[in-house]
Amino acid sequence: MVLAVTAGLAAAMTACAGPAAETGRPAPAVTTTVSPLPSTSSAAPSVAQSAPETPSSSASVPSKTTVAPTSKAAAPTGRVVVIDPGHNGGNSTHTAQINKQVPAGRGRTKPCNTTGTATQTGYPEHAFTWDLAVRVRELLTARGIKVVMTRPDNAGVGPCVDKRAAIGNESGAAAVVSLHADGSTAAGAHGFHLAYSSPPLNAAQGEPSLRLARALRDKMVAGGLATSTYAGTEGLSPRDDLAGLNLTERPTVLVECGNMRDAAEAAVLSSPAGRQRYAEAIANGILGFLG
Ligand code: ZN
Repeated sequence: MVLAVTAGLAAAMTACAGPAAETGRPAPAVTTTVSPLPSTSSAAPSVAQSAPETPSSSASVPSKTTVAPTSKAAAPTGRVVVIDPGHNGGNSTHTAQINKQVPAGRGRTKPCNTTGTATQTGYPEHAFTWDLAVRVRELLTARGIKVVMTRPDNAGVGPCVDKRAAIGNESGAAAVVSLHADGSTAAGAHGFHLAYSSPPLNAAQGEPSLRLARALRDKMVAGGLATSTYAGTEGLSPRDDLAGLNLTERPTVLVECGNMRDAAEAAVLSSPAGRQRYAEAIANGILGFLG
């Protein structure tokens, strides 16, 4: 998140989920579906193409870790988790597409997406979130949980933030976790924080989302990860400006894993061992929440 989108940085380095996006320009007529899906298998096409399973991945979930696309009633709630790896690898080369305004909840619109941030050495947030998501998926599927990803790979563009929220809603997920890393340029800023919708716009955004945030926070702290020095309180950050949180109808938390602009934290975020550590803490948090 963070407003600190330093103007001097390359345009591609916009910070994460920050409110930078809050322009008031009305959405151009369009906007692909936020509406609940009608029946049929047309549901969530992006979900259907979930990434190829890694060979080592548990066999409990076949290559399509998809889910009950048709209706909420049909969704096996309780054992479905939606993981949303923030941004996408093609965003920086598709600026018109990602700048398109989409509904963001609370009567606002926001750009479809942003490019995300990057470490000082150039490791991009979208690559981090994708790799982390795959690791979390691996850990959860090994525990028999169906994981739905909001994008199938780290190439291309999309889906937009409103569509990502719709994927969570349509899957009937027991929990939705959006993965990000931050780009604060404040001196010494580091640590993770967990954003949740506040004030809540529906029941799922209330106690269940806060409980999910606390479960994640507790396991991340238990995993040796530090809470943010610059955002939220004890790792928890109520927000009213994030589309994915405003539009969700499921327990949902956005994880800002750390600050990619902080050299020490960037070293951890950039390393496979570091990402595995985050993945285990996040998977444990989700499992703790599911009970
Ligand atoms: Zn982000």
